[in-house]
Amino acid sequence: MARAFAKISFTPDVQAVQTEMGSRTAYRAAELGEAETVVLSAFEQAFIAERDSFYQATVSQSGWPYVQHRGGPVGFLKVLDEQTIGYADFSGNRQYLSVGNLCGDDRVSLLLMDYPQRQRLKIWGRARVVDTRSEPALLEKLELPDFRAPVERGIVIRVEAFDWNCPKYITPRYSQNEVEALLVQARQRQPVVVTTHAPAVLGNGALPLTISGIRQLTPRIRAYELRHIGGEPLPAYRAGAHIRVPIALPDGSVTSRAYSLTDASGDPDCYRIAVLRVDGGEGGSSALHDGWQIGTRLNVEAPENYFPLHDDERPALLIAGGIGITPIKAMAETLAARGADFQLHYTGRAPREMAFVKDLQRQFPNRCRFYFSQTQNPTRPDLSALLGSASADTVIYVCGPTRLIDSVRQTARRFGIADERVQFESFI
Ligand SMILES: Cc1cc2nc3c(=O)[nH]c(=O)nc-3n(C[C@H](O)[C@H](O)[C@H](O)COP(=O)(O)OP(=O)(O)OC[C@H]3O[C@@H](n4cnc5c(N)ncnc54)[C@H](O)[C@@H]3O)c2cc1C
Repeated sequence: MARAFAKISFTPDVQAVQTEMGSRTAYRAAELGEAETVVLSAFEQAFIAERDSFYQATVSQSGWPYVQHRGGPVGFLKVLDEQTIGYADFSGNRQYLSVGNLCGDDRVSLLLMDYPQRQRLKIWGRARVVDTRSEPALLEKLELPDFRAPVERGIVIRVEAFDWNCPKYITPRYSQNEVEALLVQARQRQPVVVTTHAPAVLGNGALPLTISGIRQLTPRIRAYELRHIGGEPLPAYRAGAHIRVPIALPDGSVTSRAYSLTDASGDPDCYRIAVLRVDGGEGGSSALHDGWQIGTRLNVEAPENYFPLHDDERPALLIAGGIGITPIKAMAETLAARGADFQLHYTGRAPREMAFVKDLQRQFPNRCRFYFSQTQNPTRPDLSALLGSASADTVIYVCGPTRLIDSVRQTARRFGIADERVQFESFI
């Protein structure tokens, strides 16, 4: 199926340059066949709802493009339905360039940026102007009750195409609100207590490992890469496995916590985990975030697995909630490498708080569905529909909050699905 954006934007001139530069073969497939029906998924909808600005290009009567920056409170660009977006047009410098251009040509091109997360969404659509006289009810939907700027009209855009593209040259930038939120978070954190009691090498396991990589995935989730100190290969594991790692607490004592391995195994030369910082409790995860650095030495036992993925060709229904995505991601990658049939349903508060959303979207665009409970238009998985339509040999895996696990298990029982076909792991 052709990508709608390729149909619109790969004009003969563009194609000629692609041919000259050697990229035509790779892009040609994107424009063959009928154009896809364009629907904004929960993922695009949540991304749009979190923006406080975007760039909009219109086409002028003279043929010149005109690009305008539009800003407002977060969520001022609204998703009206899965094919329509719109915003209230506040009174500005009274040049009316964009609105004037729309009188002659309704085509617009939007660029939505998330600089901190280095994400960019392009949208193509056809815009129309609405006002209190023509469509008062629609204009009301676009208004922002807490924003006091006078609304002159609304712009409603029927989306014809969209495309996510490469984060390579996006410099992370932070708005004042984002910096303030980060400062509040940093102030809330316990200061790292340097203790003389913490041993230089943590733990007594058989595998001598060192932290070789750290990546901040979301404000509260960090990914860690652990390698053998001598560069030796590590014991293999099956998707669903975890390692138990030693952590030095601020009082100098050493505790341990389990963390699922996030990658398909193969012959691992490293183990990857992702750790959510849970404030309160014994503080294992926060001590890990504060204490682990590149080069930290740990002795760890080989992986264990109480949540193993099946080995045969049966299809899988993978359901993850929040940080429960960690073993589920390894399962999805393993199933994909095997060529097995699977669907992944991943639910969380909002994309920016959920690990691996972008990776999964890129790796498995047709197999993943995302649900966001704390965005403008909250969505949640319809477990009855998912389990009710699963084939009789599908194996169901769920990892996440207790409530999600319980709901999946109860729904499965209602459909008469045998307990052994419903595998689950709770982190608590
Ligand atoms: C097999 C297994 C695999 C795990 N894999 C991961 C993983 O991949 N990534 C990860 O971040 N954690 C994972 N965990 C959870 C992890 O082991 C710790 O429990 C977690 O980091 C919290 O430890 P803590 O010392 O900070 O808090 P604790 O003192 O252990 O707990 C603090 C409070 O938070 C609750 N709590 C614990 N974990 C969570 C959570 N995830 N969400 C909400 N509340 C929670 C506890 O019930 C308690 O009330 C896994 C646990 C198990 C058993």
